[in-house]
Amino acid sequence: MKKYFKLLLTTMAFFVLAFMSFRISAKAEAINIYTVDDLLAVSENTNADYILMNDIDMAGIEWTPIDFTGNFDGNNHAILNLSVKSTSTEIRTTYDGNYKTYDTSFAGLFGVLENATVKNLTLKGINVTVNKEEPCFIGSIAGFAEKSSIENCSIDGTLRLDVSAKMFGVGGIVGYGGDGSITSTNADVTLICIDHDKENRDEQFMGGGYSAGYLDVDKCFIKIDGYDSDHGYVHDGGLVGMYILYPLGNNYAGYINNTRVEGMITFFEDNTDRRAYCKDFIGEVMNWTYEYVGNSSDFTRNEIKDYSKDLLPHYCEGGNFSKEVIESTCDEFGYTVYKCNDCNEYSYKADYTLKNHKLGELSVIEEATTEKEGLSKGVCSDCGAEVYVITPVVEEKVEEPEIQVETESIAEPETVPEKEPVKEEEGDTLLKVFLIGGLIICIGLVAAIAVVLFRGCKKR
Ligand SMILES: [Zn+2]
Ligand SMILES: [Zn+2]
Repeated sequence: MKKYFKLLLTTMAFFVLAFMSFRISAKAEAINIYTVDDLLAVSENTNADYILMNDIDMAGIEWTPIDFTGNFDGNNHAILNLSVKSTSTEIRTTYDGNYKTYDTSFAGLFGVLENATVKNLTLKGINVTVNKEEPCFIGSIAGFAEKSSIENCSIDGTLRLDVSAKMFGVGGIVGYGGDGSITSTNADVTLICIDHDKENRDEQFMGGGYSAGYLDVDKCFIKIDGYDSDHGYVHDGGLVGMYILYPLGNNYAGYINNTRVEGMITFFEDNTDRRAYCKDFIGEVMNWTYEYVGNSSDFTRNEIKDYSKDLLPHYCEGGNFSKEVIESTCDEFGYTVYKCNDCNEYSYKADYTLKNHKLGELSVIEEATTEKEGLSKGVCSDCGAEVYVITPVVEEKVEEPEIQVETESIAEPETVPEKEPVKEEEGDTLLKVFLIGGLIICIGLVAAIAVVLFRGCKKR
């Protein structure tokens, strides 16, 4: 009798385990991002794994920063022309050098990163421009990062904060954060921070890597062109504005290693009680518990004593710029160089364009239907790059739907192919069949045991 019971238990255990492993494997699969809409949809599920399948041009879209606790793999693809003007919804505590706390909001591609990873991602021409009258930190990858890692990313762009508050800062990669790391990441950034409150003293932070906190840094390259106008206390660093362990009493053996900083921070500190922290790596050092090896810099501290004019990369007013368009190639993104005709000196790059691959015949991954767009893949005949192309919804009138495939165009991001939900449906059906089968077997076994028991009783 025990034998039958054991068999029944084993069978049930098998199905429970199979069910659990199915759920685990289903969760491990990353959600593919092919288009602008796919990227926007990250805001609907902020605790998932994502992988970028195409370069994506975000020109003309105002991005709302996402508070994120998942994993984002850029897959060595780029997001172009990301424009951010608002902060995300989550509020976090930030600490100044006296451990005074501030309820703070954040802006960047991500607002708040927590228990998250961001890797293999390029941000080309990111533009964060925030106006705020409360404590606020902005960065490119994230405004705030805790217990998170940023790895193998590349950023170029401009970040500007116009602010009237007691606590604020601008970081080239992250605004404020700790208990995490930035590794093998390059940032070539123009940072601008303008304090519009001339009456009240404030705590201001700027860093090419991050503006304040205790994120570990290894193998990074920072190119900074910073402009900081402050009527309070300045904490500026080529890498970090203020290195501080928080909250008070925190012990953490951090490190800043193998990193190079190049560039200049132009700043003023309009304050009779002046500190004017501005150094190549760390503006103000609150804690010395970290490892610090293999670093080098070519950095200029450019202090201005005239507080009457806010500091900017450029002052000509006419807005009289000439444009030169640099076309994209297989290897390089295109862009426009804007050059000031008034001074004939200042120029900047903007309006990046997607790489120009030569796609031959596309292979269909998912057919377009009358309701849903399809997905095809092309391979560049010159460089071998894989590009995913959305194919339009098939019109109902057509008797024999033929998918029109554009052979020469690059994947122009359009709408969501909704690949994941389909997979989930398939998975769910499979799972149902599997579980029903298991149930039938279990019932069969119970019945068999019952019959055996019944017979045993009869014999007696
Ligand atoms: Zn000019
Ligand atoms: Zn190519």
